[in-house]
Amino acid sequence: MSSEAGGSQPNAFPSVQELCLNVPLFESFHIVDSAAEEFYDLVKFNGHIDCHCLECGQPSIFHIVELNDWPWGRGDHRPLTRINYLFEFAFNCSRNESHKLIFYFRLHNRNFMKIGQYPTIADLSTIEVQKYRKVLGEELYKEFTRAIGLVSHGVGIGAFVYLRRIFEHLIEEAHQKNATAEGWDEDTYKKSRMDDKIELLKASLPDFLVRNRKLYSILSKGIHELDESICLSAFPVTRAGIEMILDERLREIEKEQKTQAVAKDIGELHDKLKPT
Ligand SMILES: [Zn+2]
Repeated sequence: MSSEAGGSQPNAFPSVQELCLNVPLFESFHIVDSAAEEFYDLVKFNGHIDCHCLECGQPSIFHIVELNDWPWGRGDHRPLTRINYLFEFAFNCSRNESHKLIFYFRLHNRNFMKIGQYPTIADLSTIEVQKYRKVLGEELYKEFTRAIGLVSHGVGIGAFVYLRRIFEHLIEEAHQKNATAEGWDEDTYKKSRMDDKIELLKASLPDFLVRNRKLYSILSKGIHELDESICLSAFPVTRAGIEMILDERLREIEKEQKTQAVAKDIGELHDKLKPT
């Protein structure tokens, strides 16, 4: 199978987990004869996926409920010749069967796509990314979740704009830290391109960002040169890159907070044990 959405750059067909939880609605995959078995395996999927359960409020394993009639034998490609074939997946939370994930799919003239789901990708992702609120602050956190929401509705370029703003925010945060340092050359910084700015600030930036600074040029290219479908198919990778950077900042923030809290506790304990 190959993704039509990427135009000249076909994607590998996603896993069931990826298809259900990350692939946007209406992204189209064309199924060629040689991929027919792979498609049948998908329709008859009989496993589980890992997903945050909105009702349990924590990560869970969801087991599939068998729903689809499959009157054709393996190797029989008749469904692929049908104009329309619709099927669905329902998964039950392993903690409570009434907690469900539901997905609808359509095969039309050999083009396969997800056409509906509940909960939405945005709802599921929002839970996963809530931890970044601490790094991003309220406004940028909202923009990050908005980017995820846009992609789940098939809007790619707009989502790139929000990711680029987050990237620029992290750079600006490091810039503010350095701007008052002795020997800092603000004029040189202002005249520099993003690549050089990152070099100047590298001691204050997450390692992953410094090593993968080309992420910024991908995000900028997305806004200026790429079309919606390429941005959509590139979004999971760019989002993962941003999350790697945020994870590193989050660990730093948590370490700083813990260091301060323990130092304070040691101070108080010391005072308490001081001979009077
Ligand atoms: Zn649950």
